[in-house]
Amino acid sequence: MKDLLVDKSSGNDIKVKVRDTIIGGNEKVIISGPCSVESYEIMVNIAKSLKVMGVNMLRGGAFKPRTSPYDFQGLQYEGLKILSEVSKKVDIPVVTEVMDIRDIEEVIKYADMVQIGSRNMYNYPLLKELGKINVPILLKRGISATLSEWLYAAEYIIIGGNENVVLCERGIRTFESYTRNTLDLNSVAVIKEKYRLPVIVDPSHGTGLRELVPAMSLASIAAGADGLIIESHINPDNSVSDARQTISLDSLKEIINNIQKLKRSL
Ligand code: PEP
Ligand code: MN
Repeated sequence: MKDLLVDKSSGNDIKVKVRDTIIGGNEKVIISGPCSVESYEIMVNIAKSLKVMGVNMLRGGAFKPRTSPYDFQGLQYEGLKILSEVSKKVDIPVVTEVMDIRDIEEVIKYADMVQIGSRNMYNYPLLKELGKINVPILLKRGISATLSEWLYAAEYIIIGGNENVVLCERGIRTFESYTRNTLDLNSVAVIKEKYRLPVIVDPSHGTGLRELVPAMSLASIAAGADGLIIESHINPDNSVSDARQTISLDSLKEIINNIQKLKRSL
């Protein structure tokens, strides 16, 4: 790879600020919430519990990239409004996905951070547009992206003038079919060693199985991740999307406690 803006030699490590939360600093940042925004009631209840646990940010998809066009596609603009009302009510920043260039302007009215999902990591026109805005970006790894393709995707955003990029390892597609994806923690160690962007891990999509989320959360932190994005729900089995990988709020609390313990020993 040629010299990149994301190389350690190109400057200091990048810290991304989302309201009062700094990603890439000393704190292990926790982002959690349901896969999809479902209703104001569910969202506000989840957000209140997360806030008490010290979770830094709330996640929830309003525009959902579903494999089947027959599946729930998200509440879209109504979902964005719910997110922003909950964010104000509970005083917690929110991250949500944008899939279409035409929605960027509206999404950034409501969201504190914009997520680029795995399926759009290769969407270069979208990445170029995100380079022009001054909003933090959570850039998920493409489902079959090599590390260098993923870094080039980040470079597309940064070269446009927006340095506020956080990488998110969410697993890649391999021959292994027991898990939904293969969570590549090698990438985390490489990024921490050679590149100056913060990196967080999504053990929910990385495994697809809720019982594996606690172990892979801790493994991610041990590998050097700056934080985690974990799907959680007040009633995981009733999640409208990704129920199988969604953990309960109690389980999330236990993960957070264990991360604090692990952090002290690192
Ligand atoms: C999500 O975060 O809900 C999501 C769709 O993730 P990914 O783009 O990693 O599949
Ligand atoms: Mn999901």
